[in-house]
Amino acid sequence: MLWVGTARIDDIDAARVNFLSTLASQASVLIENARLFQTAEGGRQRLHTILSSTRDAILVVDADGRLQMANPAAERLLSLDRSVTGKQIADIELPKQLTEALVAQTMTLRRMRRYQLALPKSLRSSVEVSSDDESLPSIEVLLEDGRTFYASVAPVTSDEGVTLGVVVVMRDVTHFKELDALKSEFVATVSHDLRAPLTFMRGYTTMLSMVGDLNNRQRDYMQRILEGIEQMNGLVGDLLDLRRVEAGVGIRKEPCRLGLIMVESVEAIRARANAKGVELRLEPSEGSPTVIGDRTLLRQSLSNVVDNAVKYTPSGGKVAVGLDITEDTATIRVTDNGIGISSADQVRLFEKFYRIKRRETSNIQGTGLGLALARSIIDRHGGRVWVDSALNKGSTFFIQLPLPPEGSADPRSE
Ligand code: ADP
Repeated sequence: MLWVGTARIDDIDAARVNFLSTLASQASVLIENARLFQTAEGGRQRLHTILSSTRDAILVVDADGRLQMANPAAERLLSLDRSVTGKQIADIELPKQLTEALVAQTMTLRRMRRYQLALPKSLRSSVEVSSDDESLPSIEVLLEDGRTFYASVAPVTSDEGVTLGVVVVMRDVTHFKELDALKSEFVATVSHDLRAPLTFMRGYTTMLSMVGDLNNRQRDYMQRILEGIEQMNGLVGDLLDLRRVEAGVGIRKEPCRLGLIMVESVEAIRARANAKGVELRLEPSEGSPTVIGDRTLLRQSLSNVVDNAVKYTPSGGKVAVGLDITEDTATIRVTDNGIGISSADQVRLFEKFYRIKRRETSNIQGTGLGLALARSIIDRHGGRVWVDSALNKGSTFFIQLPLPPEGSADPRSE
């Protein structure tokens, strides 16, 4: 508002009023502009401060695959200089895993963007960029200095639902990696040293009945001691196997028929399934592909999954094992209609020592290592393990292995 006062009433004629109101409206436009500029500049400054002070490295790539922004942490981490902004991501020197993920991701986004732009505005946001693991990868990036970073890649979407690019946030997980390695080291040493005393204990306990008659109670106690020893032996065995697989020691690479591995793993569990009254079925498959790997370990990883399916399915339930083949992968499916796994637990299922605490599982014995071992084995073979499950309905575990290019594996060596 502009307020003007004069001593004499006839001082204000129409021309003056006109001049003053023009002045007032010009001033208000200027003030409004200044305010808008201040808000925008404030927002920009705030964003800049946040991006500069976070220790996570952040990169923004547009849908054409050009680097739009790298925050100072990213510049330091990846040794980037300012001039890289605006360049194609494939032309910038970045760790290989990161470049591959970003190039693949922006290609998917470009396709998605073309599709979205062809749609009427009201429908655009309904075309979701799916957020499952396959299309939006979280990758581990190993830097030359030995540090490990965990990079998660997410799409950037405008208010109208159009995908503009991707943002990558990289977090230093070196410390966790080191802790994990220390844990493995410690556990391996301890378990190795437990082997000998356990063998001792088993030997002398079995010999008790040879040196004198035992009454029923003593025999019962002896049986329980032996069961305890067996359980510890199993744990020690799993730990040592896990250690061996993680270190990649003594893993053989030979052609193995998957069909045979499936039959052997299923038959090894059949007696246990029958005793429990769980129907265990091996579905016929279209073919019997050959994979390259360590037969004993592959069998062990599948046995662990099938064993779990029988263990966590109440009697009267069903477990089916099947195989799906594509041009370059073979996927083993183990489906049960047992107690199922909640989505919160599914995330941590494959961690070492992770066991789900539920009323239904309180009497079921285990070490929490079976799935960790299964995953390590399959990782070592360049494959993938995952689960699809609904609580109280059942679970399907998938083990996917890459198939060698046609003609490269010699099936006769099986
Ligand atoms: P465990 O020795 O306890 O069986 P695993 O690593 O094999 O250890 O499995 C980890 C946990 O995952 C189990 O304790 C169990 O709660 C859950 N789990 C594994 N397989 C299944 C399944 N088929 N159905 C339901 N829960 C399962």
